[in-house]
Amino acid sequence: MSDDTINPATIPEDCGKNGAMQLLASYLSGAWSAGSGPTTALVNPATEAVLAEVATGGHDLPAAFRHARTAGAGELGQLSFAQRGALLAALAKAIHGAREELIALAVANGGNTRSDAKFDVDGGAMALSHYAELGGKLGAARLVADGDAIQVGRTARMGGQHAWVRRAGVAVHINAFNFPGWGLCEKLACALLAGMPVIAKPATATALVAHRMVELFAPLLPPGALQLLVGPAGALLDSLGPGDVVAFTGGSATARVLRTHPAIVAHGVRLNLEADSLNAAVLAPDVSLTDETGALFVFDVVRDMTQKTGQKCTAIRRVLVPTDRMAEVGDALRDRLDRIAVGDPAHDGVGMGPLATAPQRDDVRAGIARLAAETDAIHGGTGEVAAPVGVPAGTGYFVGPVVRATQSPMTCAALHDHEIFGPVTTLGAYSGDPVDAAAFVARGDGCLVSSAYSDDRDWIVKFVTSAAPWSGRLYLGSSKMASQSPGPGTALPSLLHGGPGRAGGGEELGGERGLHLYMQRCALEGDASVLKLLIGE
Ligand code: NAP
Repeated sequence: MSDDTINPATIPEDCGKNGAMQLLASYLSGAWSAGSGPTTALVNPATEAVLAEVATGGHDLPAAFRHARTAGAGELGQLSFAQRGALLAALAKAIHGAREELIALAVANGGNTRSDAKFDVDGGAMALSHYAELGGKLGAARLVADGDAIQVGRTARMGGQHAWVRRAGVAVHINAFNFPGWGLCEKLACALLAGMPVIAKPATATALVAHRMVELFAPLLPPGALQLLVGPAGALLDSLGPGDVVAFTGGSATARVLRTHPAIVAHGVRLNLEADSLNAAVLAPDVSLTDETGALFVFDVVRDMTQKTGQKCTAIRRVLVPTDRMAEVGDALRDRLDRIAVGDPAHDGVGMGPLATAPQRDDVRAGIARLAAETDAIHGGTGEVAAPVGVPAGTGYFVGPVVRATQSPMTCAALHDHEIFGPVTTLGAYSGDPVDAAAFVARGDGCLVSSAYSDDRDWIVKFVTSAAPWSGRLYLGSSKMASQSPGPGTALPSLLHGGPGRAGGGEELGGERGLHLYMQRCALEGDASVLKLLIGE
């Protein structure tokens, strides 16, 4: 079997087969419990088969917070960074051991192709391993120095030192439906390494991967270090208190609810938001589509449209192209997209699966209709998929790749006002001027990542200077890096993930920076020799 073929034997039998329906349990206060009340179904978005169910309530959430604050925080507090890093290494190993099973769950519950599923599952293991290694480097330290010692007195005897110390509270992690594996792991890695216990809440619709990961992780961690709530958040946030942290990934409407949640406001709870983002890609005028940089540009745009069916927060939504190159770029995208088979990702040869849920499909269709009112069709019409591979027409939440175009990208409201979370992108024509390109990036009101493709260093410098304030990350595609590029859509543990404005204003990952959300920076002031002792010098 090739690495890109799904083995149906790895899909667990209780997932909707033989009439045995799995009721997913939450892991709270040290025990698995299914909850109570009405249930909601988790489905296969390609076949619409029900895979499992989850109860919508019935959990003692205040008790879960108490368990985290006492057992979880207590146990993690006894451990050094190196010891917590070793725990993360064990979690990464557990993922590797169950990789095929996790991939099969992502295919069945997420509509992922095998390649999409690997991106989620392996990406989770990679984030855990990255922070495991960082734990080893931080070693036995209790405080992490922030910068150098400062002389604040008349002589060197009176000093100052900024230092990071773990926060005394609970980290609540609320994740989006598109990366149930990676989303769980990247947040967990930072919080656990910093020393905070976690209550994780995956998005309900695609919770199977995160649920299985927590089944694997729980026996490897100290009591209370990791708890899982499957199903709606309910009153989860009501138990928040001072010292707690909420890290949220999801839509801007939910982010607004969180910003004004009474417990978050009342207790000054630290809140990190990763929300919508209209990421842009810019083709500079020096690049030909036949050279390495041009090929990378086309490859990245197509990959971001189709990988995970465009359901990546980092995917390219807006593409800026010199006016005289618009037709050529449209042709190149059409040529590549025509070759991608859409259908049930469990079938051979399928290059793009369905959207994760029926509401997402409806949102994407509404977005395409809004775009259609202001732009021209280049590829894919309205995204109808007449004959998806492997399922009867009319079954599954399919939308095919769609490319639109506009000659007036700066005034095209539909292009900048709504994130279409699917396989849709829009080309806009521009002068080729890097400052105009940066203004286009800024028109997205804050992005997780934007990219520019150029081998002209002067052009790049002008672009970066103006575009950087509007982007959490800038990806600079060029012939020098093309052969090793992971593409702009890959969030790496070593680089920041987050963005200003519409993107939520949050920051995750970025190596040691990723720990800071879960730590308190404290300015220490006193005898310089004591300060040195505290930071382990
Ligand atoms: P969502 O509806 O905002 O849900 C995100 C998470 O929030 C889910 O776990 C959801 O739980 C939970 N939630 C919903 N209402 C809540 C409330 N009142 N209190 C606490 N938690 C609540 O977003 P989604 O549909 O999963 O994801 C879609 C959007 O997320 C996309 O449009 C995209 O813009 C954005 N996104 C951003 C990033 C990023 O890194 N910036 C990454 C991925 C996605 P339930 O599932 O149980 O409702």
